[in-house]
Amino acid sequence: MATAGATALTASAFERGLAQGVKGTAGLPTATLGKTGAKTSTLGMGTSWSLSPSFVLAALKSGVHYIDTSENYENTLAEKVLGEVLERSGMRKDVYLVTKNGRAKVGGPQAFAAYEKRLTGSLDRLRTDYIDCYYLHGIEGREIPLLKDPDVKAAFEKLKKSGKIKFCGLSCHDRQLPEIVTVAAESGWIDQIMIQYNYRTMGNDDVRRAMDAAAKANLALVAMKTQGGAGGFKEVNPAGKFQEFVDKGFKKQQAAIKTVLAEGRIQVVVSEMTNRDMLRENMAACLEPKLSLRDQELLERHRLATSHLYCQGCGQHCEPQAGGVAVADILRFLRYDEVYGKTRNARELYQALPESARNLATANLTAAQAACPHGLPVVELMARAESRLA
Ligand code: SF4
Repeated sequence: MATAGATALTASAFERGLAQGVKGTAGLPTATLGKTGAKTSTLGMGTSWSLSPSFVLAALKSGVHYIDTSENYENTLAEKVLGEVLERSGMRKDVYLVTKNGRAKVGGPQAFAAYEKRLTGSLDRLRTDYIDCYYLHGIEGREIPLLKDPDVKAAFEKLKKSGKIKFCGLSCHDRQLPEIVTVAAESGWIDQIMIQYNYRTMGNDDVRRAMDAAAKANLALVAMKTQGGAGGFKEVNPAGKFQEFVDKGFKKQQAAIKTVLAEGRIQVVVSEMTNRDMLRENMAACLEPKLSLRDQELLERHRLATSHLYCQGCGQHCEPQAGGVAVADILRFLRYDEVYGKTRNARELYQALPESARNLATANLTAAQAACPHGLPVVELMARAESRLA
């Protein structure tokens, strides 16, 4: 399958990428993805950025054999870049490939035609005949009925039978995440989920109960946003405060990955790595996924010191006060901008919100701030989001 050349991967860059895995990171651990039975690397590559083909090759050659993408990322360009790299490297068979339907999440009798059409586009761009796991992208609370819709279930099962997808899944970082995970576990047709899961959120009782149900149903469990903004918030983390991490040669971001893997529930951590240093650091974190008690204590201190700056997405507390403004989404987009440096992506997402969901003039943000159980300065953060993203 071929899509017109969307990327500029020259022959020499391609050869360089093939030759240059990251040194010193051999033996990346593998895990079995729940009921799928598939084995893959515990570190996955997130692709919602302007992908460099030679970097993708370097990650593949280093043993990162789980790729998470979506038709939504870079307006389908991420799929095109990956398709070219996988075809030219001959590594498609080595990779567990996930992509997502983010543009036609429909139910009812139209479901099969809609999903098949979106999937055909992804297969074409990815230059492959099958997707290992096909997701519903970014399921929100209002979309829970889709997960219970027999037409959606039948559509995914038909795609499975056709051989175009091997497994069915969803991704989620919605405020109703626990409910969505529970429904997925009960659905009988969802094989895999990818959720926001990190050292800030994994202790939440509702999240833990939902994850228990997902583990009991033997779903494949994949985590995203595992670093929980560990590297951000320099204003409350003056140099030297976490010198012990630095002295040991690893960073808070690595400790955050280790914390998720050491718990033992999550099989794959998907990380948005954009350069070789990040790749090397994340691989090192997966190679030794244990934290000493002292390390755990340091990370817990960091969590406490920064909890008033990290929005956990629990909009059920603040949004009823905010007159229809999407506080949790907007603060997530601000994090994409300020912590991950994905300014263009953050602006696009912000500007795609309905006018009513970003009209700060009508929102009582003071009341929203008072309702936030984590003490976020909602008024200040929302004003900053508007000035940076509008
Ligand atoms: S501002 Fe506070 S209450 Fe609102 S979503 Fe973020 S952490 Fe939750």
